[in-house]
Amino acid sequence: MSSYVEDFPILKQKVNDEPLVYLDNAATTQKPRAVVDAITNYYYHDNANVHRGVHTLAERATEAFEAVRTKAAHFINAPSKDEIIYTKGTTEGLNWIAASYGQTHVKAGDEIVISYMEHHSNLVPWQQLAKKTGAKLKYIELQADGQLDIESAQRQITDKTAIVSLTHASNVLGVVNPISEIAKIAHQHGAIMVADGAQSTPHMKIDVQALGVDFFAFSGHKLMAPTGIGILWGKSELLDDMPPLEFGGEMIDWVQLQETTFKKSPWKFEGGTQNIAGVVGLGAAIDYLEQIGMDNIQKHEQEVINAVLPELQQITGLTIYGPQEAQKRTGVISFNLDKLHPHDVATALDMEGIAVRAGHHCAQPLMEYLNVSATARASFYLYNTLEDGKRLVEGIKATKEFFK
Ligand code: PLP
Repeated sequence: MSSYVEDFPILKQKVNDEPLVYLDNAATTQKPRAVVDAITNYYYHDNANVHRGVHTLAERATEAFEAVRTKAAHFINAPSKDEIIYTKGTTEGLNWIAASYGQTHVKAGDEIVISYMEHHSNLVPWQQLAKKTGAKLKYIELQADGQLDIESAQRQITDKTAIVSLTHASNVLGVVNPISEIAKIAHQHGAIMVADGAQSTPHMKIDVQALGVDFFAFSGHKLMAPTGIGILWGKSELLDDMPPLEFGGEMIDWVQLQETTFKKSPWKFEGGTQNIAGVVGLGAAIDYLEQIGMDNIQKHEQEVINAVLPELQQITGLTIYGPQEAQKRTGVISFNLDKLHPHDVATALDMEGIAVRAGHHCAQPLMEYLNVSATARASFYLYNTLEDGKRLVEGIKATKEFFK
């Protein structure tokens, strides 16, 4: 794959006198010129509030806003654009499923099944739902190498299960979960299957129908779109049966003094003025990714990981979490170096111009499961090169030397 670095002005800077190597893509990604230009262009030429307006700018803004729904549906192979709901991001999407579907379909004695590797966004909403309804929250265990334990899934998912919700790709362990296999088990027991696509959608072709899920949520900012925009996809028969959560402008059909009727899905969920510029940016990001090709992106990241993982494994005192075989991994590598605090490791790498994240990565139960308080995490994207991988390896070696 040819280098796309040129499309990202932010990457062409020095940090602490060293050329920046940005390896914090699991937290958020950089934006190509095409995305920034689309947003600028929207504000310079088309900005207006969507729907209802009959003037030209309102029509242009509405057209752009609704066109991205079709684009997003195609991007994840959703059967209909009317199943695409704009959200702030993955967190909001998952919260909405828990609050709207959950509170109307889950009752005391039911079970909600997640795993030990979940981001807090796919854990706390279910915990809250369980508390409110009297349902029980259960966890699927992991294998020793961090992959999901299917036998544990078979044990945890029972006829009492109402919802199974799993991350598609881990933001810590670099694994991809067998969502379609788990969805089959969930459906055999009459449960619905939710997938958190925050870490998979930016890096691989998503097909919600092939995954066999009922709901799928992802964030724009992790795939080169702006912050504050995301997508919740759900099967129309489920969405139609769910109450809206925010009431006000845009989402109503008819308002009388004592009664209101609502629009149909997806609009009934989109109360108030939406992040229209964010939607435009998301559309440009999807175009950018599709032009390169999701399969090419995945292949490129795999090549970088194939090269960098064995190099990292040579460094004594470096613990890498998750599977040790490159082909079982995504571009997320969490690690600890000797007994150093990951914050010190990340600070030392920043001195070398290398941006990695340190902390619990919003996965405290997973940290406890791994018996660590925190890790450092390098995460790659399509603009990262083999050279970036080498810089990381050299940076970690220099950090080890520095703290010796
Ligand atoms: N799920 C996973 C696996 C994540 O990695 C993240 C963000 O890091 C989220 C959910 C939440 O995404 P957002 O903060 O964009 O809502």
